[in-house]
Amino acid sequence: MMHYLDANATEPLRPEARDAVLAAMAVTGNPSSVHQAGRAARRLMEDARESLAHRFGCQAADLVFTSGGTEADALAVHALGQGRRLIIGATEHDAIRAAAPAAEVVPVGGDGVVDLEALAARLANGPAALVCLMLANNETGTIQPIPEAAALCRTHGALLHADAVQAAGRMDVNLTALGVTSMAISSHKMGGPTGVGALLLAPEYRTIAPLILGGGQERGRRGGTPPVAAIAGFAAAAEAPRDSGILAALRDRIEQAAVAQGATVIGGSAPRLFNTTCLALPGARADTQVIALDLDGIAVSAGSACSSGKVAASHVLAAMGLGALAGQAIRASLPWNATETAVEAFATAYARMADRLRPPLVSHAA
Ligand code: PLP
Repeated sequence: MMHYLDANATEPLRPEARDAVLAAMAVTGNPSSVHQAGRAARRLMEDARESLAHRFGCQAADLVFTSGGTEADALAVHALGQGRRLIIGATEHDAIRAAAPAAEVVPVGGDGVVDLEALAARLANGPAALVCLMLANNETGTIQPIPEAAALCRTHGALLHADAVQAAGRMDVNLTALGVTSMAISSHKMGGPTGVGALLLAPEYRTIAPLILGGGQERGRRGGTPPVAAIAGFAAAAEAPRDSGILAALRDRIEQAAVAQGATVIGGSAPRLFNTTCLALPGARADTQVIALDLDGIAVSAGSACSSGKVAASHVLAAMGLGALAGQAIRASLPWNATETAVEAFATAYARMADRLRPPLVSHAA
């Protein structure tokens, strides 16, 4: 039996989302078609758009469906970064780093929180910028002070794009309340189907140049026939109930079990997502830990999962100044349906793994 503790990679599909996807798949029609069938598909899509826009604090007309978080981030950088210098946080996801390879980088502290003074200094020092900061980090769960960063950006005439892919569905996320220019969200990180996400825009920036050209869908902001069934599932997942109290208690139990084996909780002093923990076990390679836990039926990850299945060195943990520990940390992230059984299985497997991987104590006996 596999105990799945890798929600930040992808959440299990929520039953509400599956039901909505199946119901929408029974509707044949392209939402761009003018006939009745097209209009039925369009209604499903626009209902979902209304519901998502309402939940995440923008107007329906300002929500652009994309293929996921990566494309939403890329569209933001492409459309809002034109003619502006780019500034990103040191712990941004590769979706942002790859879209802005020449960006200036703002450091984070040892707790993973972005250095706002360094950001202010950069903003004061040069032409208007697009700043990209994530709301919550995928590896550590660290929550960034986005409202404060947004205020700084406004003072300096800069735009702020927030990558809220890990935060949406796990904390209150509202574009207007955060004060950002744009925000990326992704369906599969909140229990919806993969293959769909959205870029949300502040009303002043609702007219943007598309990254994907085509038939003028999404008010000319993203070409391509939208995946109506996935969109319906996305909206249903965003509305599904979640019990952060229970998950936070389970996360604490995981940390307690790991710390008892000599692990350190990375970024534990900063505000964090309730479902995420990053645990470093001194002396034990991260990929070896992931394999050992997998053999015991526990799914966690190390660094950021990348498409080749290999574990890349974590730029997030390196930016936090962790040195060698950056290669010795795993991430456990609890899905919406995590159970006490899974957490106790983790505790048992972690203890067994730590016993095997901990470096032997050097004896100083004569
Ligand atoms: N941004 C963050 C913070 C993420 O964690 C991820 C995925 O792991 C993405 C963006 C990319 O989202 P998607 O998988 O929907 O393309």
